This record gives sequence, structure tokens and C-alpha cells, in this order.
Amino acid sequence: MLKTLYEQLQTLSGLNLKLRINDNRSTMLSVRWEQGHARVSLHRMFLKAPVNVMQELARYIKAGRSGSLPLEVKKFIEYQTQKMDYSHSVKKGELSTRGRRFDLLAIYDSLNESYFGSDLQLAITWYGHPSRRLRSQINFGLYCYPLKLIKIHRLLDSFDIPDYVVHFVVYHEMLHSVCAPFVNQRGMTIVHTPEFKQKEREFQFFHEAHQWIQLNKDRFFK
Ligand SMILES: [Zn+2]
Repeated sequence: MLKTLYEQLQTLSGLNLKLRINDNRSTMLSVRWEQGHARVSLHRMFLKAPVNVMQELARYIKAGRSGSLPLEVKKFIEYQTQKMDYSHSVKKGELSTRGRRFDLLAIYDSLNESYFGSDLQLAITWYGHPSRRLRSQINFGLYCYPLKLIKIHRLLDSFDIPDYVVHFVVYHEMLHSVCAPFVNQRGMTIVHTPEFKQKEREFQFFHEAHQWIQLNKDRFFK
């Protein structure tokens, strides 16, 4: 399969390629054009890409740095990404929702009812160590798309953190499940889309939560 893909791309693009298949969640496609060859990293999903997608991909690689990602390729990545569903592999017994202070499931349920008409069917869990500081703000919470799983860092399970902050972080991760990411000109998946940012502001205490995080972030981040 990999060999076929490699031969196809090599022939269609007419370039010398160094091809790598990845399982990365954020980079479905990356191309680096170097002297005499192109370094291509493709997500596993491309192993089953239809011919027209491969042709467009080869055209993109051939065009070099100045080209932009063809629509067919973008659509293919977006569709494949949305189709991935590994939620059955989440082991309910390994989820931990009841914290020292916050009950994630109760928070999730109330947000689901208030903002999503109780339509969402996601799993949620605490993760991480309660006292270890984070390297970047991104990790307050995570949403794993194929698992339909929200992970909230245990640093937030603390008595001096306002209720609305934890609600906001959970709300933010829930939004990821309803706002489809898009793929930009370079094959990067953009998750905080304008639609996402607009919906984020619909959270009742958006400004309060945002302000609190800004004022207190040094506590959490290195
Ligand atoms: Zn996010």
C-alpha cells in the first residue's frame, strides 16, 4: 500500500520524494521543498485516498512552495477527519470524573443541557497531576476528536478556582465537538475557527472567565 502510494506520487509529481506516513492528529499533510527533492509527511488516511485526490496532491507537490492546497485535498482531509470515530475504544472504567472539588460529569451535563440541548454524547475525564505546572495554556483542557473525549487538567480541581472558570474550560472543549475544524492552505488543521470563537463568547461568564485566566495564568504555566 505504502509502496503504491509512493510510486503514484513520485510518478505524478515528477519529483524525487522522501515520503513518511504519520499518525499525527494535527498535521494531516506537510510538504517541505528542499534542494532536488520534497519531503512529504502524510497521515495514514492517504493510504486510501482516491485517484483524483492523489493527482491533485501530486500537482500541489510539483508546484512547489508558492502553490496552495487544492480544494479536493482539503475536502478529503476534512471529511476523513470527521469520519474518524474511536469512541468505542474509550474504557468507561478508566474515566475519572469526580474530583476533590469539581464533579466533571455534573458540569458537563448542565452545560450540555444549557447550551447544546443535551445533544452531545461525549466522554469526559480528569487528567494530569494536581500540582504539576503546565507548559502552555493549551493544556487546561483537551478534546480528542476521534475518541469524542474531553480531558480536563487536575490543576483546575482546586478550591481557589472559581466555578465559572472550570465551566468555561469544559464548555470550550465541548464546542470542539460541534465546530468542525478546517484545513488551511498548508494542510494544517485549524480548530479555533471564527465560528468557534463566536460561539465561545456565548458562554454566560465568558468575560469573567477570560479575565480570571489572564490574571492567574502565571500560577499554572511555566
Ligand atoms: Zn481549543
